[in-house]
Amino acid sequence: MRSTKTSLGLSNSSEWFRSVHTRVNTAPDARMKVSRSDIISRCLMACCPNCGRFGMFKNWFRLNRHCSHCEMQLEKDESGFYFGTTSIGYVLAILLVIIPVCVFVVMGKIGMWTGVILAIIGSILLCVGLYPLLLCWVILTYYLVSPQELPENKEKDESN
Ligand SMILES: [Zn+2]
Repeated sequence: MRSTKTSLGLSNSSEWFRSVHTRVNTAPDARMKVSRSDIISRCLMACCPNCGRFGMFKNWFRLNRHCSHCEMQLEKDESGFYFGTTSIGYVLAILLVIIPVCVFVVMGKIGMWTGVILAIIGSILLCVGLYPLLLCWVILTYYLVSPQELPENKEKDESN
């Protein structure tokens, strides 16, 4: 299965380009087994976008390499998958914690150092608490852009 790592990576990326090309040219939405709305609802319920069952998480911070039911690959190690998760976390921390804390400090409701400590602790708690949600979000956006990447949809494509 995992004979040569480099050739695996190359074939994956050429497959990716081919699938994007196919999507642009044929708009396969209508004949896809798993629709975009399925992908949204499944990911929001923290379920596998491919089979819709709860088997994506190894623990709070990590996805399983493969879905425990349908064996779909979940971790995309070549494409800096977890980078997306942390960057969304930073943006959320700035919007929901750091900006409100700054406003309170400027308004004189809390002191400067209380604000700094609140911002640090709040950001960490937010990122840790929402991490599984952020992972789901990254999976959601990935397959929303390329729904034909789902094994269920690929099988349908091949049979046609
Ligand atoms: Zn699955």
